[in-house]
Amino acid sequence: MDAKEEANEITCTAAVAWGPGQPLSIQQIRVLPPQKLEVRIKILFTSICHTDLSAWQGQNESQRVFPRIFGHEASG
Ligand SMILES: [Zn+2]
Repeated sequence: MDAKEEANEITCTAAVAWGPGQPLSIQQIRVLPPQKLEVRIKILFTSICHTDLSAWQGQNESQRVFPRIFGHEASG
């Protein structure tokens, strides 16, 4: 990573799921600069929907990918 990329790296607070059904861990995470065809959006609020809940509980084999951050229904 060069100096320009480091300058665009940010730190955010996130609720991280480390495993199915485990309590969410509120922690600081590093977010790398947007890559080609990506944008960075400042999110002020988000919700946990039914899809997030089922993934958090590991109900579907394809959703059992951890650690992960839920809340794809954001606004702000
Ligand atoms: Zn959803």
